[in-house]
Amino acid sequence: MADRRYVGVDLGGTSFKIAVSDAEGRILGERRAPSRSEEGHEAVLARIVGEAKAALDEAGVEKADAAGVGLPGTLDMRAGIVRYLANFPGHWRDVDARTPLEEALGIPVHILNDVRAATLGEFKFGRGRELGARSMILLALGTGIGGGVVIDGKLRLGALGSAGEIGHGIVEPGGPPCGCGARGCLETFASGPALAAEGVRLMWTGQAPRLRDLVEGDANRVDPKAMGEAARAGDSLVRMAIERAGRYLALSISNLIVALHPELVVIGGGVAGLGDLLMDPIRAGVLENVRMFPADDVRIETSSLGDRAGVMGAIAWAMQGGMTEEA
Ligand SMILES: [Zn+2]
Repeated sequence: MADRRYVGVDLGGTSFKIAVSDAEGRILGERRAPSRSEEGHEAVLARIVGEAKAALDEAGVEKADAAGVGLPGTLDMRAGIVRYLANFPGHWRDVDARTPLEEALGIPVHILNDVRAATLGEFKFGRGRELGARSMILLALGTGIGGGVVIDGKLRLGALGSAGEIGHGIVEPGGPPCGCGARGCLETFASGPALAAEGVRLMWTGQAPRLRDLVEGDANRVDPKAMGEAARAGDSLVRMAIERAGRYLALSISNLIVALHPELVVIGGGVAGLGDLLMDPIRAGVLENVRMFPADDVRIETSSLGDRAGVMGAIAWAMQGGMTEEA
């Protein structure tokens, strides 16, 4: 058991990451490459195989024991088939992602959603492990908002593996239209683009002078990172926009805490880089909202694995052999 080796793959719309680890999750080899999704799924899967072999070489591993693959969409995990990848040309409808990888690598391959993978990675190898949590919720704040749920030490997938689509819970009835078809989803208030849109509005209405200086008036350069800098440099309305996103996040997180009572909530994704500007209103909002039981012992922390959470979760998924039969 001790000398087992695993491959993790985290496929994103623009690039993918691959890591080879030992049985303790220590990284032995790592590769990154562009996804070039416009070339179609066969070319993308072939490139993953090539980079996985390169990562195994780098790690000095002849053959791994299993691989896990995180994919950004809806999957039939048991069958190894992709049902829908929103941001990929052709959406990979009913693409068998498992067989070509298993044939080329000669090992079992287990697929799961990329954000559920990040959740598992953070639980097994990141904040969850650091803090000894048994139950944990992760929210990944990026272009969209994804999430995942671990209860009593186990990643919970629900029907279709969709448990954890926290970004599409409604926080404002009748609010802005969301990409999912509903209105007023958390994602429409607290994703990177939602925050940036508010930053651009403040800049163009003369209410964010520091932000304007930082990005030299270029709306394309307004992102959560620039907004964080502007807020710290004195743009009070930019700070308030971030706090507002934090309050919406606190609303969703409070409802999850009441329903699931985790010991730990992890905030990941690029927007989490705002640090205390975002975390303080989240923590304050949760304390204000949750009254059924003391919520001050629920830790709310940023991710410790950052953009490696997904690939580490794919490794953890490979280690556990993918979906297991017991509950
Ligand atoms: Zn939505």
